Amino acid sequence: MTGILRGGCLCGGTAYELRGERRPVVACHCVQCRKTSGHYVAATQVAADEAVITGDTLTWFRSSDIAERGFCSVCGSNLFWRKFGSDRLSVWAGTIDGPTGLRMESQLYPESAGDYYDLPDVPSIEQATLK
Ligand SMILES: [Zn+2]
Ligand SMILES: [Zn+2]
Repeated sequence: MTGILRGGCLCGGTAYELRGERRPVVACHCVQCRKTSGHYVAATQVAADEAVITGDTLTWFRSSDIAERGFCSVCGSNLFWRKFGSDRLSVWAGTIDGPTGLRMESQLYPESAGDYYDLPDVPSIEQATLK
């Protein structure tokens, strides 16, 4: 699916437009995603130069040695994840406005999932197979 997808945080302080190709959604049950989302993360991914981010509330938190997470410093919405030095940007699918045209097709770290929900019915993959 092409065309522009728009999204942003709950308070409107940070907004974005995604142009170009969007990766199918990947769920992640890792502890970091559990903590920052309150559940698990479902994210698409785009080329970083095809994402236009506007607003003045976006804050980046260094969540590990290899990556950081972007969230709104006013309302707390989790929006982005990016690897240091990568030209890709992960975008939390639930923050996209309106129909996304995307489907969740795989998941990461199912062994770290909370014990209170059933895993989505999609294949488990290794992080290393993703960019
Ligand atoms: Zn906000
Ligand atoms: Zn994760």
